[in-house]
Amino acid sequence: MQPPICSLCHRDQREEPDLDFETVRFSDYEPIDRPGHPEGLHWFCATHLKAAQALSDLTSAEALRRLREES
Ligand SMILES: [Zn+2]
Repeated sequence: MQPPICSLCHRDQREEPDLDFETVRFSDYEPIDRPGHPEGLHWFCATHLKAAQALSDLTSAEALRRLREES
């Protein structure tokens, strides 16, 4: 599992403990049964969480591309 760093703006919760971070599962999410970070699972800060959740029907690559275009 990756540390909580926003996939869009790259803010890091360890440096900003007052900012909420949550993971979003995209359509390409695949759970894994070994140490590491699952495909299709991304951290987002509170600023970007809602926009990311709204695109969670897409693959993570497509959602991130759209989020970057909008920001
Ligand atoms: Zn962010």
